Amino acid sequence: MSRRFFADEPIIGDTAQLTGAEAEHAVKVLRAKVGDLVTLFDGGGAEFPARITAMGRSGVALAVLARREVSRELATEVTLGVALPKGDRQRWLVEKAVELGVSSLVPLITQRGVAQPNEAALGRLRRYVIEAAKQSGRNRLLQIAAPQAFAGFGRQASRAAFRILAHPGLDSVPIAELALPGPAGAVSCAVGPEGGFTDEELAAADGWRRVSLGLRILRVETAAVALAAWFSLRDAIRPGREPQTVAGTQNVTSGE
Ligand code: SAH
Repeated sequence: MSRRFFADEPIIGDTAQLTGAEAEHAVKVLRAKVGDLVTLFDGGGAEFPARITAMGRSGVALAVLARREVSRELATEVTLGVALPKGDRQRWLVEKAVELGVSSLVPLITQRGVAQPNEAALGRLRRYVIEAAKQSGRNRLLQIAAPQAFAGFGRQASRAAFRILAHPGLDSVPIAELALPGPAGAVSCAVGPEGGFTDEELAAADGWRRVSLGLRILRVETAAVALAAWFSLRDAIRPGREPQTVAGTQNVTSGE
């Protein structure tokens, strides 16, 4: 895979621009030059081979050579509601969630949770998403949602998704024993804070299947990643779906 860059404006014509952190990364870290071939993506599901045509203060200009719809997404739409841990562990969680194919991450406000990310912190999480998408080859971005109370998340998830609440203990069903729906569906997972969900939260979690991820107590981010890996790996071994397949190649038409 050639060097990938994220264009924050949708790519529609035969030119594109990299600005801000992306331009800086290309110029200062990767020492890209005029004439270099790279791959762009804009989060809309396609990727675009492109050539650098100019570099300057305002950014990097590119000629877009083609548009390819390439999906490296999971068949299952996985939403992770997580009472976020702090600092670096947040970053690790976001990075692994992107690599494993999670569709969206909802910071959960829980009774025993610590402080919630403010706008600046959410912005940092979104930057980690882009970095991980560049590295892992995803052409869609994991969505970082606004923080939500656990009750509200439950109501929203109840519309379509199969709901799993991770909770240690003998009352929970081991995840391997859970009858899951087929891969083409939506799953919402809830992971509590270090102090765990309260009895009140558990009692209110109507319609959620309480699952155990093993006999050990996992850190919040480990539990979230273990759940994501469960869906990611089952997708990886499913025959008849080739995540790397180029579904359609279409030349970019200019000036029309
Ligand atoms: N003392 C807390 C542990 C919290 S661990 C308690 O007993 O509930 C933080 C979160 O990670 C939990 O709320 C749960 O969602 C998840 N988790 C950790 N270990 C788990 C396990 N073995 N099985 C299921 N969920 C687990």
